[in-house]
Amino acid sequence: MLTIGVDIGGTKVAAGVVDPQGQILDRVKHPTPSDDPRALADVVARAVGELRERREEDEIGAVGVGVAGFVDEDRATVQVAVNIGLRDHPLRDRVQERVGLPVVIENDANAAAWAEARFGAGRDSDHIVCVTLGTGIGGGLVLGGRLHRGRFGVAAEIGHYRMVPHGRRCACGSHGCWEQYASGRALVAEGRDLARADPEAAERMLKLADGSVEGIEGRAITQAALEGDPAALECFASVADWTGRGLADLAAILDPECFIVGGGVSDAGDILIDPVRLSFARNVSGGPGRRLADIRVAELGGEAGIVGAGDLARR
Ligand SMILES: [Zn+2]
Repeated sequence: MLTIGVDIGGTKVAAGVVDPQGQILDRVKHPTPSDDPRALADVVARAVGELRERREEDEIGAVGVGVAGFVDEDRATVQVAVNIGLRDHPLRDRVQERVGLPVVIENDANAAAWAEARFGAGRDSDHIVCVTLGTGIGGGLVLGGRLHRGRFGVAAEIGHYRMVPHGRRCACGSHGCWEQYASGRALVAEGRDLARADPEAAERMLKLADGSVEGIEGRAITQAALEGDPAALECFASVADWTGRGLADLAAILDPECFIVGGGVSDAGDILIDPVRLSFARNVSGGPGRRLADIRVAELGGEAGIVGAGDLARR
């Protein structure tokens, strides 16, 4: 049976036909309508309809939808999704009545974690923690081969684990959340801080941006770091150190076999992951005798959300 996986992001709704091996056979994309729940269900239904039209009749058996937000334990209602303006919204029923197929809703980071666990960097392990270093930090747990949703469906919001008492303010209302120190936003903050304090040292990053401190984005820092620029590498060292500390705390609680690190920040590859491994080993509890979890880069990139949502719909 084939399924359709849909990934609702802040700017686009991406959908694909997913086969049982986790391959995407066909794709469509539409802009995300802002602050209009009815239009959102219409766009999801249109994407599903377009993909079904291009297949044999009855080839598609179910639809999985990943969304950045809190999804309840029945995988039916979006409790809150700030980026797309949903609150207590019965998204499953709205999509189901439009497409006439079984539909499940899933948190997007959970869907991506499931895809990596089944078909990506974690396919040979049953105990996985996925950490997506995007603008913030997304998390997903696959424990004993099962996706861990928690009692109320909102498990693994690891980005808001409080790392630093009275630390940097976070959009969630708290202070010192992990994602304020180890994420794309944190990387950019490091780059801009450095450029403000020492424009000469930050010359390469500024040149790759538009010349202004505020123009420095993650891409410029990553490119400079890949070229070996010391200032950019310093920014990555900070983010990597905080990432390793967070993974060490997660290892103390969950004892996974491997961590899978994805998201835009992981595009830097070993420049990020090597110092993350060092920081993790330095900070993990249990001393030198402890068996260390593997730390791997995610393999499925931006398509993990579609693959995971599609595969979860099959189950
Ligand atoms: Zn927070």
